[in-house]
Amino acid sequence: MSKNINPDILIIGAGPGGYVAAIYAAKKGKSVCLVDGRWIGGACLNEGCIPTKALVKSAELFQEVLNGEKHGIILKDPEVNLEQIIKNKDEVKDKLISGIEYLLKKYEVQVIEGYAEFLNDEEVKVKTDKEIIIKAKDIIIATGSKTKHLPIKGIDLENVFDSEKLLNNTKLPESMTVIGGGIIGMEFAFIYANLGVKVNVVEFLPRILPLVEKDVALRLVRFAKQLNIDIYTGSAVSKIEKTEDKLRVHFTRKEKEEYLDSEFVLEAVGRGPNVYGLGLENTTIEHSAKSGVKVNEFLETNVKHIYAIGDVNNIMQLAHVASHQGITAVDNILGKKHKMNYEQIPSVIFTSPTIATIGLTEEICMERNIEYDLIKTPYSANGKALILESETGFIKLLRNKETKKLIGATVFGKEAENLIASYTIAITNNLTAEDLKHTVFAHPTIQELVHESALGLEKEAIHFVD
Ligand SMILES: Cc1cc2nc3c(=O)[nH]c(=O)nc-3n(C[C@H](O)[C@H](O)[C@H](O)COP(=O)(O)OP(=O)(O)OC[C@H]3O[C@@H](n4cnc5c(N)ncnc54)[C@H](O)[C@@H]3O)c2cc1C
Repeated sequence: MSKNINPDILIIGAGPGGYVAAIYAAKKGKSVCLVDGRWIGGACLNEGCIPTKALVKSAELFQEVLNGEKHGIILKDPEVNLEQIIKNKDEVKDKLISGIEYLLKKYEVQVIEGYAEFLNDEEVKVKTDKEIIIKAKDIIIATGSKTKHLPIKGIDLENVFDSEKLLNNTKLPESMTVIGGGIIGMEFAFIYANLGVKVNVVEFLPRILPLVEKDVALRLVRFAKQLNIDIYTGSAVSKIEKTEDKLRVHFTRKEKEEYLDSEFVLEAVGRGPNVYGLGLENTTIEHSAKSGVKVNEFLETNVKHIYAIGDVNNIMQLAHVASHQGITAVDNILGKKHKMNYEQIPSVIFTSPTIATIGLTEEICMERNIEYDLIKTPYSANGKALILESETGFIKLLRNKETKKLIGATVFGKEAENLIASYTIAITNNLTAEDLKHTVFAHPTIQELVHESALGLEKEAIHFVD
């Protein structure tokens, strides 16, 4: 038996792209059908942003407890119970997911559990207990991304994990080798190292975190060393072997064969757009396995009533980009002509310390011949930073020399994820240092560094020598 549905908008995929688009469109009066084959919340809530950050919190708390003596907090032989850490992580994500389910229901989004497959440019089939054929006025593809795997021997051995599997692991190993020094690899390296595990990172490129400025990435390497994380860059992994009681990761570095033994291996070599099983071959939608679904600046595919948002269009693999693209696509369906501005997207790496960026970096300015002023503001100029024991942190703030507008910020230190919000508002709204100078920030907060950095650009810093 098959059933036909004709909503205004069909959204395929209920991650932070799809579910946000669904709620927004429903609130704008559209009838919306949201289809997901696996789970509400997508990678972000189930196996990405939220679960990893719950683990970051637990792991950093363990370090704080270990180092509590200075504060007069003395605990005898503190231990890690990874089972409880994973349980806490699951409670956080389950609470969030049930909140989203409530909202979808409240705004009368029709949620269908099942995998969607295009039959042609107009019709989509979903197989549940019966077959459902959906013909919508507009369609948003939001099928996200999939973990990439290395085509090497031993990648399927027991105790070789990808990020999703590791998130549910409850056994704390004594050592772990992370293959891949990108964002996901480095976040897990710090989580496990903070929990007391000996961690190695093997990275193919000449340095870790290639999207972060070189001096900032190098500063993080110093913190990694302090936590006993050994990093091997310029290293190509060739195979993984099982020894008597360990896993042996073989790699080539500077033309020499080397290996590392550890109990666990994490494979974190990136994610690619998820265009599989969607029946795109039955449509005229332009796409490829490498580049995902092609969209224009309005998030439209070459088929005018079909849009693609989030990781599947392979523009930026970030949850907040997926969500904002969701809102933008719905606005465009509603007849507006909104574009995304990818130069003003904040990005955070939850290592210890945290790294957060927005806008242009020195390296980009040099590439594009943009003349800029730079001020590097030390966290040590701020009382709250000292309380948080993050006095080694810093902020690099850039402005266009000619227009005086703020164009980029990189923050390295505790609460960088919160500090970057102020710079995001400033840069998105074309503010100058002078504008920030006349904004009052509460004391004692780390946000006072935003003020201090703006003063610094004018050579007026109070708490450090600019
Ligand atoms: C370990 C990890 C940590 C991360 N940390 C962060 C972070 O801190 N901050 C951040 O911004 N980003 C982070 N990300 C990235 C973030 O998770 C993604 O950018 C985000 O989830 C993309 O959202 P999306 O809606 O495009 O797709 P997804 O969240 O991947 O959702 C896609 C949904 O589509 C469904 N689907 C796929 N195919 C079909 C089909 N044919 N029919 C029906 N349903 C289908 C899937 O089941 C899934 O639910 C992290 C990712 C990982 C893996």
